Amino acid sequence: MASKKTAVELIALQCTECKRKNYTTKKNKRNTQEKLEFSKYCPFDRKHTLHKETKIK
Ligand SMILES: [Zn+2]
Repeated sequence: MASKKTAVELIALQCTECKRKNYTTKKNKRNTQEKLEFSKYCPFDRKHTLHKETKIK
């Protein structure tokens, strides 16, 4: 694997209700400046909640 420079960053999507990190996704920092927000199913709340971008570690 060549060490190519990339603007793609792995991020976690955190549930805004229970604060659990349920999903991970990739984000191209060069194209996407703003924080990502998705409505996703949270298995802990057992419903769709708003998930916001956060650091993976
Ligand atoms: Zn939740």
